[in-house]
Amino acid sequence: MQLKQLMKATQLGKWQVKCSKPQSLLSSQGCIYNVPQEYSEEDIKYALNEYGVTKATRLTYYDKQQAKRVPSRTIKLFFSIPQMPTSVCIGFLKYRVKLFVPKPLQCYNCQHFGHVATNCKRDKACVKCSLRHEGQCNTDTAVCVNCKGPHQANSKDCPKRVEKQKALKKSKELKISVCEATKIVKGEDTKAFVAEKELNMQHISKTKTHKKSILGEVNTTVSQMVSIMTIAITHIINAPKERITVENVAKYISEVAKTLNLCNVDTDQMNHYIEKSQSISL
Ligand SMILES: [Zn+2]
Ligand SMILES: [Zn+2]
Ligand SMILES: [Zn+2]
Repeated sequence: MQLKQLMKATQLGKWQVKCSKPQSLLSSQGCIYNVPQEYSEEDIKYALNEYGVTKATRLTYYDKQQAKRVPSRTIKLFFSIPQMPTSVCIGFLKYRVKLFVPKPLQCYNCQHFGHVATNCKRDKACVKCSLRHEGQCNTDTAVCVNCKGPHQANSKDCPKRVEKQKALKKSKELKISVCEATKIVKGEDTKAFVAEKELNMQHISKTKTHKKSILGEVNTTVSQMVSIMTIAITHIINAPKERITVENVAKYISEVAKTLNLCNVDTDQMNHYIEKSQSISL
């Protein structure tokens, strides 16, 4: 009730305000892997429009041989819905969608996390010895400026970095701020633990109602049946030549048909049957 009232508020004290839910609660970001290089970002966005994808970005990586960043086979997807699907289809191929978790941002100047050097207000610290000095570092023993451990500040094994990465993951999973997520990761905030459980519950109920409101039950079922048939046809096309006999194909199709029958209109069970249809072999 308080939330509803607050959302309607236009004035707080003497200030004019406009209330809206945070973007993180209205949208989601995920990644799909092994996407052929020839698919353009526009093509992918267009192909995944029905899943609520509003933007597709091909991620890049640093190639040592070419000494530059080159396009990878990973695509980051921006969904206009809070709960992204577990998988999407581009043409005949199905891709698993994994939650997008950014890498911790580290400053090149002070080596602390959460900001970049251009916005840094701290003193310079050497990535190797943690001291403030110009030019090359002549020390043999590394000291991390963040945890004082015997490694460089940019080490993947730094416990501070591991903690930051865990917090970033938690914040994306639960759609909470990194600050709140850090408290949960550190085990500092017991209230946050309770909130975590509550949020989880909300997520589950949201997912269920969301599916129905966006696609409608019938359409979901039909589109998922099409997915099953697409997978089935792909199976037949890709099967070893000697296995493609009239008897085998007929038997296979009848197995798939059984799966389709099981679909009924139970949308929540559908994904399970899609998985199942994949395991039927020719
Ligand atoms: Zn800094
Ligand atoms: Zn140094
Ligand atoms: Zn460290």
